[in-house]
Amino acid sequence: TKQIFPSYLDKLSDVQREAVEYCSGPALVVAGAGSGKTRVLVAKMMHLIKLGYQPWTIMALTFTNKAAREMKSRIASELDGVKFRDLRVGTFHSVFLRIIRRFSDKLGFNRDFTIYDTSEQKSLIKKIIKDLSLDDKKYTPKICLSNISNAKNRLVSVEDYRNSDTLKKADKRNRLESLVDVYTAYQQRLFESNALDFDDILYYSNILLRDFEDVRQTLRNEVKYLLIDEYQDTNFSQYVLIQQLMGPQGLVFAVGDDAQSIYGFRGANLDNILKFEEAYPSTKIFKLEENYRSTKNIVNVANRLIQNNIRQIKKEVFSSRDKGEKVFVKECFSEIKEAEYLAQQVSEAHSRKHYSYRDIAILYRTNAQSRLLEQELRKRAIPFKIQGGMSFFAIKEIKDVMAYLKLINNPNDSEAIMRTINQPKRGIGSTSQERIMLLARERGYALSDIIADEKLLSQAGLNKGATKNVLQYNELLEALRTLDQNDLKSIVTKTIKLTGLYDFYCQGNDTESISQKENINELINGITQYEINQHENGEDAGLSDFLTDMSLVTDQDAEDDKDQDYVSLMTVHAAKGLEYPMVMIAGLEEELFPSAYSKSEKDLEEERRLFYVAITRAKEECIITHATSRYQAGYRTSSVESRFLKEIEGDGCEREKGYISDFSNDPDVERFQRKNHESFDRPSWQLQEARNYDRAPKYQDRYEATATKKNCRRLRKIDKTLDNPIYDNVDYGVYPGNRVKHPKFGFGTVIIVEGEGANKSATVEFETIGTKKLLLRFAKLLRL
Ligand code: ATP
Ligand code: MG
Repeated sequence: TKQIFPSYLDKLSDVQREAVEYCSGPALVVAGAGSGKTRVLVAKMMHLIKLGYQPWTIMALTFTNKAAREMKSRIASELDGVKFRDLRVGTFHSVFLRIIRRFSDKLGFNRDFTIYDTSEQKSLIKKIIKDLSLDDKKYTPKICLSNISNAKNRLVSVEDYRNSDTLKKADKRNRLESLVDVYTAYQQRLFESNALDFDDILYYSNILLRDFEDVRQTLRNEVKYLLIDEYQDTNFSQYVLIQQLMGPQGLVFAVGDDAQSIYGFRGANLDNILKFEEAYPSTKIFKLEENYRSTKNIVNVANRLIQNNIRQIKKEVFSSRDKGEKVFVKECFSEIKEAEYLAQQVSEAHSRKHYSYRDIAILYRTNAQSRLLEQELRKRAIPFKIQGGMSFFAIKEIKDVMAYLKLINNPNDSEAIMRTINQPKRGIGSTSQERIMLLARERGYALSDIIADEKLLSQAGLNKGATKNVLQYNELLEALRTLDQNDLKSIVTKTIKLTGLYDFYCQGNDTESISQKENINELINGITQYEINQHENGEDAGLSDFLTDMSLVTDQDAEDDKDQDYVSLMTVHAAKGLEYPMVMIAGLEEELFPSAYSKSEKDLEEERRLFYVAITRAKEECIITHATSRYQAGYRTSSVESRFLKEIEGDGCEREKGYISDFSNDPDVERFQRKNHESFDRPSWQLQEARNYDRAPKYQDRYEATATKKNCRRLRKIDKTLDNPIYDNVDYGVYPGNRVKHPKFGFGTVIIVEGEGANKSATVEFETIGTKKLLLRFAKLLRL
């Protein structure tokens, strides 16, 4: 048959195509997970270009930088003559950051302003708290910053804050009356440093559009069509921004799923999706109901879960695919067993089911859960990557290099000055630093002026030696600024050398120095890669481009290296919009998932949506685990399974209760049984009883209560056993029946384990050389 539609339309269902082709007014696609919203958005952009829209007149807002890159490269590769760099596609923050740079003079900023990250924000707040002589126990950086962030996301300026009786009252109630002063000083100091924080990007964009008629006109003329993905997670400030940019008649095309709104804590507002029609009265609404991503079982289980939420737009999501494997819920004895189990499942999926590692993702509610998973995966030599981009740039040595780079670009960046002035040590001690800061504060000088001026330095009270050192530091900065900022790699390597950071970090042979050296090398490798990517896409790769792009990296930016094969580990938040053939979700326990912080019904609904997002990432298989006890805050505590597990029970979901099977051949259990002279045949029941007793001792029957009490004591004993450090050693040992790998002899199976402690040995039948007896202390056996 002849191809009727251009290829991008060809791949769409009828409803999807309708949504793409409807271009005469604002439209909203509300649809369930995996129903092709993102696909529709990409097709829409191509369609508009086909219709004659110039690429740069369409603005598309994605939720992650990675999604933006993918979208750009797909469009550039499928449409002839469209260049990657002409596409105005990015996250809210990246797209509007460009706009702020363009019009920075209107706001009184210099074009090369810096973006402060969380740690820079915190350090600034700490200084302010000190200067204002406030109680740093009450005014913690976290509390101050979250209040400031809330204010900005609600577009409350410093003046508005000062004039608001409601805020005043609220602060008074919380005994934080001085928050407004903190906010004031914070904005003032950012301004003096020619710096913005992340929330400022949206805040100032709103100001630009609200207060500068000419900017609004220019931008409205430029942006003819606005496309927004993951619309359910926009916050108030983004909502207003869109309206200001596009006007009430604007051509806005938003796609989203109210069931996947998971950023409430950041001010994302579910109502925005409900208010869309209010903002754009002529809105046409499209509903997509077929999930193309997941099997029937996965879709059914996810639907069953989300039904429990009251606040939602009713949708029928269905899958026409096979039923597929059942969603499998596995109960594990402890978080250690859980990690072991998951690693083993990965291993099996890889070897028996022919999954690639990159087909598999392990999701968890909190970052802290990743440590054990890492450990277990490493033990089995399974390649993995923890997704979440912030961490690398939070490493001390990397932050040092970045601070120097920022200073080259923006001499006023006071956080960067204070970070680098005596790093590496150059004889400018903390007293001298404080004196410089004090002078800056009291007389209103910029730090950059003081460090360049001998007179001011002596006015600050620095002695001759320190003055000389500061001036030398300033000369160093001046020298760095003469380097060619368009040759990124060279300016970075020269900076590392000339500042003395190289000698400081890379000379030693101890493990710490080696890791620091590796990190610095990794930064240089990253820069090489960055330059290549930018050039491939026809984009600039100068120092300021690099700094800007790096300041926009967020923990939602999962990396995706097509050439590499690894399992992805990430929080559920970071997994939004992604899909994997096999998804494992760990830690489905009360107070973990749902989080202990979710108290209200509203919070709980958000946690449920989060779990919904997690399940719907899976295409073929979904494995969910929970542990009956977990080491938390210094104690081993018994955990209650998540309420969500009850909610998903039913057709298409299979549960394996009890870890009894874990226990066969497990010396821990034998040891425990021996010690307690009792059988341990129904541990699950006992633990459940004990938990009930702990949490709801409402047993009328005396006998039952006593029995439960006994179980409770028993439970504590198990907990003790688990806390015993020996447990860890045993845990990393091997048991008969285990598959193992030896660096020299290869794969084998353990037959006998004998002896204790240092004399413990294992007899292993190797595939290559037959049976060998090995002393475990020396044999580097890897348990598979
Ligand atoms: P999420 O809510 O998770 O963001 P989504 O609605 O954006 O999901 P997509 O990611 O666009 O959904 O699509 C889900 C999967 O279904 C993708 O693998 C996509 O390629 C596929 N898909 C979408 N539409 C169709 C279609 N009409 N025919 C076949 N496959 C499709
Ligand atoms: Mg999507």
